[in-house]
Amino acid sequence: MFIILGLIVVFIVILILKPWEQRACAWREDRRALVNGVLHVCVTCGAEMALPPGKKPRRCMAQDRS
Ligand SMILES: [Zn+2]
Repeated sequence: MFIILGLIVVFIVILILKPWEQRACAWREDRRALVNGVLHVCVTCGAEMALPPGKKPRRCMAQDRS
């Protein structure tokens, strides 16, 4: 019985998190790369984005490449 409950809990957690939709980008700032801005480099997909200081990329750029 507990096994079934555990499976249901896991199933619900997977539905909530939706790992197949969350291509979580790990943006890393590289302040040395630009003079007037911050170069954000995604560790997971390798995307690069130059933004003004204080701003961060919202989503993964890898989805635009496909
Ligand atoms: Zn990415």
